[in-house]
Order: sequence, then C-alpha cells, then structure tokens
Amino acid sequence: MRMTITDVEQELVASVPTGLFIAGTWREASDGARIEVEDPSTGLVFASVADATVADGDAALAAASAAQDEWAHTAPRERAELLRRAFELLTSRAQDFATLMTLEVGKPLAESRAEVGYGAEFLRWFSEEAVRISGSWTTAPDGQGRLLTMKKPVGPTLMVTPWNFPLAMGTRKVGPALAAGCSMVVKPASQTPLTMLAFADLLREAGLPAGVLNVITTTRTREGMEPLVRDPRTRKLTFTGSTPVGRRLVEQSASQLLRVSMELGGNAPFIVFEDADLDAAVEGAMLAKMRNMGEACTAANRFLVHESVVGTFVEALTARMAQLVVGRGSDDGVTVGPLIDSTALAKVAQLVDDAVVRGARVVCGGKVVGDSGYFYAPTVVTDVPPEAALHGEEIFGPVAPVTTFRTEEEALAAANATEYGLAAYVYTRDVSRVIRVCEALEVGMVGVNQGSVSNAAAPFGGVKASGFGREGGPDGIEEYLETTYVGLAT
Ligand code: NAP
Repeated sequence: MRMTITDVEQELVASVPTGLFIAGTWREASDGARIEVEDPSTGLVFASVADATVADGDAALAAASAAQDEWAHTAPRERAELLRRAFELLTSRAQDFATLMTLEVGKPLAESRAEVGYGAEFLRWFSEEAVRISGSWTTAPDGQGRLLTMKKPVGPTLMVTPWNFPLAMGTRKVGPALAAGCSMVVKPASQTPLTMLAFADLLREAGLPAGVLNVITTTRTREGMEPLVRDPRTRKLTFTGSTPVGRRLVEQSASQLLRVSMELGGNAPFIVFEDADLDAAVEGAMLAKMRNMGEACTAANRFLVHESVVGTFVEALTARMAQLVVGRGSDDGVTVGPLIDSTALAKVAQLVDDAVVRGARVVCGGKVVGDSGYFYAPTVVTDVPPEAALHGEEIFGPVAPVTTFRTEEEALAAANATEYGLAAYVYTRDVSRVIRVCEALEVGMVGVNQGSVSNAAAPFGGVKASGFGREGGPDGIEEYLETTYVGLAT
C-alpha cells in the first residue's frame, strides 16, 4: 500500500484554504496555532489547518450576529438561488470533494462520491424549500377573530459536526439554515476539517454574503464552544455527534434555553424474519453494516435473525464479507478503508475480543489488518451473548454480530433493549407485520426491505438517547424557524 499521497492529491489539498473563515475572509488563529490532519490509511500527517482560540470563536459569532438581520431579509428566491448555485458547483466538483474526503476520513472513493451526491441533495432540497416557507390563517373556533401564524428565522446558529460524513452532516444543517434565513458558525470535527473549509470556500464563490457562514476549526473544543453555547447572540445549537457530548451540550444550552437539535449515536437492530427475501436481506445487510466501514450512526449494530434462516443468512453474509477488499480508500478495487484513528481501532478490537471471551464465535475477520494505518478486517460474529458490549455499544466498525430469535415479540424486545433509538432495519414480506413492527420499534427511522434510510427528502433523526429534532424533508427547515402567532380581532 502507498504510504504517501500522490502529487495530484497534494495539489488538491494545497488548493483548500486552511484558515478560519470569519466575516467572509480567511485568517489564521489569533495565536498562530495549527491542527495537524492525519491520513488514517498511514497515520501520517498530510495537512494542517488553523486552530481557533476562544477569541476567534467569539469573532466568528460576532460576524454571524452582524450578518443575521440582512440575511433574514434577503428575498427567499435569492436565498434559494444561492443554494441552487452551491448545489451545481458541488456537483461539478464531486471528484475533488470525494478525493478530499477519502484522504481525511479514509473511506473508499466510491463512498466519498456517494456522500457528495447525498450532501449536495440537501442544498437542492432546501433551495426548493426556501420559497415555500408559509404561515397560516384560520378563523377562531368561536368565530370571534382570526388566528394568524408567521414564520421567522430562529437566528444565529451554532453547528457542530462529526468526522464520519464531513460534507453531508454539514450540508444537512447549512442548507436549511440558509434557506430559513439564519446566519451561522460551523465547527467541523478536528480530524476532518478540510472538507468543510473547501465547502465554505465554495459557498463564498457561489455568492454567500460575508458573515452569514463562518467556520472555525479548533482542538480547544471544550473551552472554545461552551462560551458560544452560553452566549445570548447564539439562538440555536445543532449538533451531530456522540451521545455523551450531546448530553453535555444540552446541559450547557439550558442556561439560556436555546433551541436545540441533537443527532446522536445509534445502535440499529437489523431484523430478518423467517419470510424475508434472504438475498435482499444480505444485500441490505452489506449496505447497512459496511457503509463508511461501519462508521455511521445508522449502521446496523445488531443482526437479529430468525433461527430458521440464520444458517443460510450467516453463510451468505460471510461470503460477501470475505470478498471485500481492505486498503487505502483511493486505491483501485478497495471497498473497505481504515477506521478513523488508533482509538477507534482499539475499541473495535476490544469489543470483538470481549464477545469472544464471553462465548461468541468469529466466523470471519476478527483481527487488525496490516501494521500501518487503522484497518480492521470485515467481521461476522455469531452466538453473541446479550450481555456482551458488542450488543450494547455503538461498534462504529466493520463488525456484524448475529443472534437469533424465535418469535416477533422476542425480536422486538431485543431490538428495543437499548438506550438508543435512531434507525432499525426490517426484512419481511408480510405487510401486516411491517406495520406492527414499525409501530412497535422505538426508533426515529425504519428501513423496510432496504439497508439505507438516508434521503434528503425524508426527516432524519432519532428518539431516546439518539437525540431529537429532524434534518431533511419538509420538517428540516422547521428546525430553523420560529412561529409567531397573531390574534386578530374582527
Ligand atoms: P464526537 O466526539 O461527539 O464529536 C462530534 C463533534 O463534537 C466534533 O466536532 C467534536 O469536535 C465536537 N465536540 C467534542 N467535544 C465537544 C464539546 N465538549 N463541546 C462542543 N463540541 C464538542 O463524535 P464523533 O466521534 O466525531 O462522531 C461519531 C458520533 O457521531 C457517533 O456516536 C455517531 O453515531 C454520531 N453521529 C450521529 C449522526 C446522526 O445523525 N444521528 C450522524 C453522524 C454521526 P473535536 O473533533 O474537536 O473533538
């Protein structure tokens, strides 16, 4: 495997601005500090970006606050057309964005391209929504007056995004905020800052007025973000990331009762009933498990398979997993990239080892691959006891634990036996069962006979410890709007 990045990749990286984007200009951190960006395929540093101080964060919020009023009063059509231009630009540069994401996240190029497509769809969808924001007019039930509602942008929004989908988790927030008329400060994950910086530059090129979107990259995350969450100029916080950090941010947000959206961790069950189309179930399992090397909040975390079909399912799944090619995401033919860092790799290995000690059986994989980078072999584990951490924790790696059930009730009880409630997948041909199961599952999203739920036109989000709020679909823009009710005497 190549240890260095190519000249073409190097040239692309050199074209990305690496400062802080504040008030429409690029600047260094006020103390000159930089963050090193690592290639997870090798562990080698290939770029660096500015490391914002607390004062830089304050400057970014000041810029967003100053830009809010004018942006809120920009014509919806103008906001829509800016988003549309951004969609076109992003689509025309899909290859560059994909290459950048593959460098900093490690995912195979085909998956990075798919993320560019998915991420761009939020710009297109919300460009269409920007001109459809509406209120209502009704007659009061007693006939004595009229009830009007009007929508207004919530105001300057703080956005914190994770490393696993550095583009799409950003556009899913930036798209609706721009459409609604909100200014913003975006803080991408320190491990993958380049994609958001390139995207900010694209928005500048598309004509976004200075100050509407500001980006700060920082490793001084905790001390830098808390003052912004508590600052009264901030009117909304939207976070995508882990549940523990989400909990902390919700606590901080309570001081000024901030509007908050939380897209947090998951522990998705993938249920295969005895009447399922098993070929389709295996196809869906590969997508639900292996997208992004398993590093997705919606990743299938527990496979619950009816005991009468488990043998066939495991055999077919194992055959597919064994065909995957582990390696550097930009290399031809590679279908599984590295995990994000050494901590993630150690966690996945430890979860599998713990399950084995408790009696689980590794059918394929189950080991670290190579001696550079953070690769873990695609793995199928069976006979996982309920108390194994592999069932309770978000794996965030290419490991498929399989257990069996006998009845629908048993499957549902197992599926809901988690604090999380983001996604679930169900394979069955029985329509009545589909309805029963979807009503009983404690999750925000269900994939029925499909291994993915991501769609810009649908409301994405969870319940329980997976958070609250919805991104995408008709609900997505509501997260960035306030309702004013007017009672009118007649
Ligand atoms: P993370 O550690 O929670 O980090 C997410 C973001 O929060 C990063 O930008 C991080 O910045 C920032 N952060 C960390 N501590 C903070 C603090 N005290 N105050 C403010 N910001 C803070 O999560 P991750 O490891 O990047 O992402 C993986 C997690 O995200 C998984 O649990 C996954 O399920 C979840 N996720 C959820 C969704 C969804 O839609 N529900 C989608 C994707 C991912 P630094 O990088 O500087 O630490």
